[in-house]
Amino acid sequence: MSTTTTRDIPFFAPDLFEDDRDVLLETVHEIGTGAAQKFILGEHTARFEHALRDRLAAADVVACSSGTSALTLVLAAMDVGPGDQVVVPAFGCAPLASTVIGCGAQPVFADIDPVALTMDPAAAEAAVTGRTRALMPAHVFSVMADMPRYRELTRQYGLRLVEDSALAQGGTLQGRPAGLWGDAGVYSFVQVKTFGMPGEGGVVVTGDAELATRTRMLRNHGQDGEHRFLHHRIGHNSRFDEVMAAFQLHRLEGLEDRLARRAEISAYYSTRFAPLADAGITAPPVGGDGRCHYVYTLLAERRDELRAHLAAHGVHTHVYYPRTLPEQPAFAPYAPPGGRWPNAESAARRNLSLPLYPHLSDARVEHVADTVCAFAHRTRRTPR
Ligand SMILES: *Cc1c(COP(=O)(O)O)cnc(C)c1O
Repeated sequence: MSTTTTRDIPFFAPDLFEDDRDVLLETVHEIGTGAAQKFILGEHTARFEHALRDRLAAADVVACSSGTSALTLVLAAMDVGPGDQVVVPAFGCAPLASTVIGCGAQPVFADIDPVALTMDPAAAEAAVTGRTRALMPAHVFSVMADMPRYRELTRQYGLRLVEDSALAQGGTLQGRPAGLWGDAGVYSFVQVKTFGMPGEGGVVVTGDAELATRTRMLRNHGQDGEHRFLHHRIGHNSRFDEVMAAFQLHRLEGLEDRLARRAEISAYYSTRFAPLADAGITAPPVGGDGRCHYVYTLLAERRDELRAHLAAHGVHTHVYYPRTLPEQPAFAPYAPPGGRWPNAESAARRNLSLPLYPHLSDARVEHVADTVCAFAHRTRRTPR
């Protein structure tokens, strides 16, 4: 990789928390020197959970150690285990498969929609067997999965619906927030997510109070919170950091503005890129419903050439998931031999994500768009 100059536009912004640096240092000092010496699951975590719960009007929000762990806790709270199957997308991040395998169940990979890149409901339905316990669609990059259809399917087949909304905090579909479509949803606060923080953490979001109680127990070794050293269930160590909770409570104030800025950049990109289909570049749809604004991802026939062109003009990009989940050595043993997921394979070959973060200036956003459009223009003149 070339080194970044100040004129370059990085994909991963190095200064996401620059404006809140002093608050972070004060928070560390305050909690680090506080009389209570309480560093996990204390009053800040409880206040953070309540703030998110009230914001969503959800039954409960349970903070835990990561988005991955949130999925694990949800599956465990649903008693998904050996002998069970969970239908997951064939294209996406590793936790979609590893959390299912981790609880002893089998992931069944379903192909994705070729444009939305989210799990195709028809493929998911075709994957349902007598052993299926849950469907676990994920929102991908900047598009939400077809949750109304997944609610219908899970109702029809008597299955649980786990919504992997780890990257989709702030997105809405038909007015309903991402995270509130399933029996349970999750958010991740890892640095780059829409409500990222300088550390590791996540939450389970649920409208099901019973599921929330079980999740709360499971995040802290199966104890019930009232009685320490009384273990009702085999649990996990998945707790939340007090410094991060206090910091996120502070950052919650600016979240709406940051989400709005992400949406604005995303809308601008989509308007500029909509006419590029004939140059082999497919952009996410224009419009806000069913969108979330984590990263902005194009599908490009000449992906590697486009990437090189952008890099030559100082625009750094990222390829998320250069291979499908069933193609990963770790997960291949769980996939049927010779199985094919053509849309997932095509997405893995063509996806390219562009810089998208709230403090990206208009000039930089325009430079990114101009550079993509110039490549498309050149491609039209020099077909392969
Ligand atoms: C980020 C992410 C996760 C995992 O969250 P972590 O906090 O990194 O463990 C899970 N699923 C999806 C779709 C994600 O984007």
